[in-house]
Amino acid sequence: MRAVPKSLRLTNQARLVEHLLRRGIATRAELAKAAGMSQPTAGKIIDELSTAGVVEELSGESEVSRGRPALGRPGKQLRLAQSPARLVICELGVERTRLAAVPAALPDDEHWDVEFRTPNSEAVWRQRLRQHAAGLTIRRPWAVMVSVPGMVDEASGKILLCPNLHWCERADLVAAFNEVFRAPVQLIQENRALALAEVGTRASASDFLLVDFGDGVGGAIVMAQRPYEGSVPATGEIGHTPIGGNQRQCGCGNRGCLETLIAEPWLVRSLAELSGDAQTTFAHVCRAAQAPELPAFLTEALDATASCIASILNVCGLKRVVLSGHVRDLGPRACDYLIAGIRRSAIWSRFDTVEVELVQRRIARGLTIAGIQRVVMPTDWAER
Ligand SMILES: [Zn+2]
Repeated sequence: MRAVPKSLRLTNQARLVEHLLRRGIATRAELAKAAGMSQPTAGKIIDELSTAGVVEELSGESEVSRGRPALGRPGKQLRLAQSPARLVICELGVERTRLAAVPAALPDDEHWDVEFRTPNSEAVWRQRLRQHAAGLTIRRPWAVMVSVPGMVDEASGKILLCPNLHWCERADLVAAFNEVFRAPVQLIQENRALALAEVGTRASASDFLLVDFGDGVGGAIVMAQRPYEGSVPATGEIGHTPIGGNQRQCGCGNRGCLETLIAEPWLVRSLAELSGDAQTTFAHVCRAAQAPELPAFLTEALDATASCIASILNVCGLKRVVLSGHVRDLGPRACDYLIAGIRRSAIWSRFDTVEVELVQRRIARGLTIAGIQRVVMPTDWAER
């Protein structure tokens, strides 16, 4: 057999997994063709991936689950392995910390094995993590993938700024997870994880901007199936664009940021200021958004949002936007208003339709994809 340099083997391996990630299910022959390899070359790599528990054959699941390599014919269909659990995924949220043990296969729904209220100190959080980790059924995970809010330096595993969870800025999260799971730990900014969840769906057919609306507003650009990385770890911070005439003090230290108009707590505050009712909740905002005429505080917030989104499309050459989070809860009138505003301000609308899609938040799926891209296909990650 001709010797193949290790780096080339890893690149070929990454290419095959990437195609499976995008297609979901494919035959050996289809994968070989899509990855531009001969069938024997692809077949050998697929067998290795099968032994390693990354892929499995669709038929004969019982054989696969017994851990036998799937030496199938070219026509046999393959998918990412649905068992056993290989990765620990964790959403470190402002309100809740959630954990699951997942296989290489992408989850269809947002399932978490354990969760607890995120405490407001590192010491208590570490204690809760140790307690709840015992509830996960996984032996020797390949890696722990953790989504975190705020500004994150993913390369060094440090949170630089987290206005809603300040203790994270001083905490050594990587060490905390490593102590519990004894596996490599990777932090991923939560909007990037959300954006990655769209890989293998319609949105990923081309590059896109994702914007997520919650307690804050953040974004991520996905190019060639990967979250865009800037030269400094402040990518996608659309929520911190100052809006003219807005004097509100933002948690980032600046004044007038977009998120102080459109993030959930700020929409509540806008309505409360208008009605004088201190008991105003987000449900009241959603109700106000059902009125025949959208209230002015909402149209102003949506106009500013549309303008910030369109400016990113115009600068980066994108024609697709994916929106997640509370904007869906505001109802069809507010969504249509926002979409119309984006299209009006995006220069590409003069030539073609700028596509805007509303999607569910799928952090578990995004973290699993990040795990496959960064852990199963490490050469690919290291090159970027
Ligand atoms: Zn800000």
